[in-house]
Amino acid sequence: MLQPPHSSLKVAAVPAQRVPARDRDQDAPWHTEAVCRRDEAGLFFAPSKEPTAARLSREEAAKRVCARCPVMVECREHALLQPEPYGVWGGLTAAERRVVLARRRRRDMELKKAARTTAGHIAQAG
Ligand code: SF4
Repeated sequence: MLQPPHSSLKVAAVPAQRVPARDRDQDAPWHTEAVCRRDEAGLFFAPSKEPTAARLSREEAAKRVCARCPVMVECREHALLQPEPYGVWGGLTAAERRVVLARRRRRDMELKKAARTTAGHIAQAG
C-alpha cells in the first residue's frame, strides 16, 4: 500500500478527521514521487500552539521542499480539489489555497455570467 505525502505526520500533527480524505487517493501515482513522504522535520503541518514566526519559518521551509518536488502540480490540485484544510500542499499554505479557490470561484461566476449574457444576446438576435 502506498503512503500519502508527509505520512509521518499522520499520527503526530494531522487531525484524525482528515486522514481518510488524504487516503482516498493514496493510490494515485503522484504520491509515489512525493519528496515529503518522510517528513521527519515536521515541516508540513503545524504543531498545536505554534507561534506565528515559527509557523512562517516552517512554511517557508516546506515550500522549499515543494519547489524541488516533481509532483508539485498534482499535489497542489489534489489539495485544492479536496479541499485540504490544513498544511502545506503543493507549495501553498492553507490560507494561500483559500485565496486560489476564491479566485477560481470568482472566475467561474464571471464565466457563467458571460455565457448567460451571450446566450441572451443570441436569443434576442434570433
Ligand atoms: S509538492 Fe510538497 S506537499 Fe506536495 S508532495 Fe511534493 S513535497 Fe509533498
